[in-house]
Amino acid sequence: MSDLSFTPLAVPTVAVAGSGQRFPVHRIYCVGLNYADHVREFGSEPTPPVFFMKPADAVVANGAAIPYPPRTANLHHEIELVVAIGRAGREIAVARALEYVFGYAAGNDLTRRDLQSAAKKKGQPWDTSKGFDFAAPLAAIRPAAAGHVATGRIWLSVNGELRQESDVGQMLWDVPHIIAELSTFYELKPGDLIFTGTPGGVGAVRPGDRLEGGVAGLEVLRNTIAPALSADPAR
Ligand code: MN
Repeated sequence: MSDLSFTPLAVPTVAVAGSGQRFPVHRIYCVGLNYADHVREFGSEPTPPVFFMKPADAVVANGAAIPYPPRTANLHHEIELVVAIGRAGREIAVARALEYVFGYAAGNDLTRRDLQSAAKKKGQPWDTSKGFDFAAPLAAIRPAAAGHVATGRIWLSVNGELRQESDVGQMLWDVPHIIAELSTFYELKPGDLIFTGTPGGVGAVRPGDRLEGGVAGLEVLRNTIAPALSADPAR
């Protein structure tokens, strides 16, 4: 008999393209300010990668409706290439970094921009602006056996209107350098996801909006923004 106080919640998972298997999520790491045009739209200068995290259970399936989150009036989309890690490693060499990649997916680093702007002004952490429920929608992971992703169109449209368009080859820190640098802070584990940063053109979304975005060669990510959830009925 189990000595756990209650049945643990299921491990969050992501679909794997062309397979009935699912990728169990361990941690979600994110890179901030990794495209020069996005850095400029916030009036910043390019720097070494800024890392932050989202909780693993922030993942949202492709096609799902995303409730508009609480405590914000400025929810932003950020289309990103997501790297899924398949092997454990610390202080990984740039030249060997791709050996740790399980696959790639298109993801959206949803951001409560008003909370992030306030946090930046005060020098406070980004957690509430980035690490909220439903903050990490992503499409199916394409296994690395189908090829690594170093270049290719990255784009996002809202209600059919193109908002973001660039090429993942424009990233200031490419995938091998991100993996190498991140693995000096944390031991990477199978199940880790890395959101690698968004190009320029981020903007607000509202309930009823239809988001479509992708990276060339990967499954297109489609989500709608739903009305905010109502208060806990037990309250
Ligand atoms: Mn981002």
